[in-house]
Amino acid sequence: MPYRKLAVKAIIVRRLGQPEVMTLEELPDPVPGEGEVLVRIHAAGVNPVDTYLRGGQFGYSPELPFTPGIDGAGVVEQTGPKVTKVKAGDRVYLAGSRTGTYAELAVASESQVYPLPPSISFAEGACLYVPYGTAYRALFVLVSPKPGETLLVHGGSGGVGLAAIQWASAFGLRVAATASTEEGRSLVLRNGAQAAWDHTDPSHWEKAVEWTGGVGFGIVLEMLANVNLARDLDIIRTGGRVIVVGCRGESCIDPRKLMAKDGGILGLSLANASPQELEGFHLALEAGLSRGFVRPHIRAILPLSQAPKAHRMIWEPGALGKIVLVP
Ligand code: NAP
Repeated sequence: MPYRKLAVKAIIVRRLGQPEVMTLEELPDPVPGEGEVLVRIHAAGVNPVDTYLRGGQFGYSPELPFTPGIDGAGVVEQTGPKVTKVKAGDRVYLAGSRTGTYAELAVASESQVYPLPPSISFAEGACLYVPYGTAYRALFVLVSPKPGETLLVHGGSGGVGLAAIQWASAFGLRVAATASTEEGRSLVLRNGAQAAWDHTDPSHWEKAVEWTGGVGFGIVLEMLANVNLARDLDIIRTGGRVIVVGCRGESCIDPRKLMAKDGGILGLSLANASPQELEGFHLALEAGLSRGFVRPHIRAILPLSQAPKAHRMIWEPGALGKIVLVP
């Protein structure tokens, strides 16, 4: 391999641990291989999974050292051999990469880059794949809701929750959501939820069922199943489904509650999406962006060097959309 000067700033994790294990270093330029694209990153989206990978939690243990980051947006700097989908100068968003997006440059396969419309900022483009892909899978791949069906987004103020509210309201579902702060509840209402409650207030369970006329929800999208799953089974209607999107521990449930309601619990991982499914998702996303109902809400834009701060912030209560890092 030819000598390449150290020229690219990137966050590096050399050992798993607390946020401070992420350090900003200078690395050699990454080189795109066959079918790959070099992207100058203008913004990288921060997702909870980035923190699990950095900390080695929940069974994720990546090979060290690595640069974190799945989501990103920027401009194609160079294309490797046999790339036909994009060219140098194109604005793109990333759906993963080979080298990590918390960096000035990232190498991704051509199948991981998608055109970013001129009306969408790089920061917004860095908040598309993981949140909207996960919400899309949960709502339209795992279940087939009918317009008018009731949905509770249990944890609506974060990246996936807001994406789910936007998809579901555009599709015609009756959407309610929860958030622990007044600001979070106002945000979910502005994004299409028709009712909002505080998930830290025990009375929200009763209020939620009341909102459905006592019938219960057709779908509950659960962001913290270890805390809520057992009670979720009380608030679904007959034939209702709880979809586990997020879970940070174990949960004890009474399966008889499912029997009584022909109910179901489904879990999902975005990583299980097939290439065909992802193509469908990106087309839906393109339509959502052009019609304007897909619109990430950005809470904070921080310099790349503050990646440790971003990882602390995303674990704090009071989510308000996305945190983005800029090189
Ligand atoms: P995020 O932006 O950090 O948002 C977290 C959300 O959880 C906020 O709305 C937060 O509300 C809410 N929450 C906190 N405590 C809650 C409680 N007791 N009950 C209900 N909701 C509560 O994270 P995200 O990107 O939206 O992701 C949400 C979860 O899904 C995370 O656990 C993440 O790891 C997981 N996830 C899974 C997949 C997958 O493939 N399965 C993909 C993406 C994300 P407040 O801050 O207002 O309290």
